[in-house]
Amino acid sequence: MKLDVDVLRYLSKDDFRVLTAVEMGMKNHEIVPSELIDRIAGLKHGGTYKVLKNLLKHKLLHHDSSKYDGFRLTYLGYDFLAIKTLVNRGVFTAIGRQLGTGKESDIFEVATEDGTVHAMKLHRLGRVSFRAVKSKRDYLLHRSSYNWLYLSRLAALKEYAFMKALGEHGFPVPNAVDCNRHCVIMSLVQGYPLSQVKQLQNPDIVFETVIGLVVRLAEHGLIHCDFNEFNIMIDDNEKVTMIDFPQMVSVSHANAQMYFDRDIECLFKFFKKRFKLSFHENKDECDASESDVDENGRPCFSSIEKTAGFLDKELSASGFTRKDQDEIEKFIEGQSDSDTGYDEDKTVDKGCLHDEDDEANVSNLDNLRLVDQQVLPSVSCDDNNEMKGNQRS
Ligand code: ADP
Ligand code: MG
Repeated sequence: MKLDVDVLRYLSKDDFRVLTAVEMGMKNHEIVPSELIDRIAGLKHGGTYKVLKNLLKHKLLHHDSSKYDGFRLTYLGYDFLAIKTLVNRGVFTAIGRQLGTGKESDIFEVATEDGTVHAMKLHRLGRVSFRAVKSKRDYLLHRSSYNWLYLSRLAALKEYAFMKALGEHGFPVPNAVDCNRHCVIMSLVQGYPLSQVKQLQNPDIVFETVIGLVVRLAEHGLIHCDFNEFNIMIDDNEKVTMIDFPQMVSVSHANAQMYFDRDIECLFKFFKKRFKLSFHENKDECDASESDVDENGRPCFSSIEKTAGFLDKELSASGFTRKDQDEIEKFIEGQSDSDTGYDEDKTVDKGCLHDEDDEANVSNLDNLRLVDQQVLPSVSCDDNNEMKGNQRS
């Protein structure tokens, strides 16, 4: 998705007022009636309607007149609300190139006033299931077409909370900088996803490190659930950073063992195939002291000393509660039937009209610019997304 910074810069205070009114209206409406938007925004002399036209032109809103005349936010509209809040908070002043497009996220470089480059992850949870559900029954369509806003916000909050807590416990994760709505700002990892790396100097050490991380996570009561070569970043010194946390679960989860084994198996398979590592596939060949591995030489979930709920306090300190965890798990597990059973009262950012950052005027955006791509570090990729021009090519 393209983020047109120029459009963002030239949006007026009234534009943001109306955009926020639509966001608020979406708490209770899939499509927010135009009159309601007008009432919430409270602009004089029919000003709301002119603004709506402008927002529609820039694809920040979607117009729907099938049942009544109304609007809903697009991802882009939601992006702009989050970006404006973060810019007003002084978190960053410039947006750079896109770093990645995941199944359920878009990632961009952003830069602070002093030129520090961070990564901005915009969550798109529900994007896939929303498409999938389009062909389904009406009531599902009705629910899912606006819960993406809530789900994406929950995913971002979860990612931020986990990143912060894990970082505080010494795990190699990006530094969690800030979070608003569906957007997480984190430090930029100076490396590449392991999926793009063809050769390593010390594949066995990297392998031990990543397996060690899965075990240490379990000791801390957690399972990553998507710990594979796409979510492991590696730098030129072969230092590992793990990313992408929205799907993490507790070791007390009913399917914990299965998720743990799956993460481990993925890593064994990948390192065997890509870096030709060989493993003890038979217990008899294993070192007798390795009692915490199973008959295939895999770390054994049951023999890990686990502390479920170890990070709960830190997580709730970031505003991520047990209930949030339950709801997001329900969504992830029930993605195929796309019915989340979520609490409708939470479909809009709590207190978005009272958010001091949003109340601030939009003048900070005047300085928002597209970063000169030359000043940002870049990795050149060919069509297959393999790296060029370094030792791993
Ligand atoms: P998704 O949930 O969509 O898989 P990820 O968090 O895995 O999103 O990010 C997708 C891609 O974006 C990663 O594979 C990586 O290339 C890039 N990326 C994500 N976070 C960072 C970061 N902090 N620094 C640099 N690149 C990042
Ligand atoms: Mg990922």
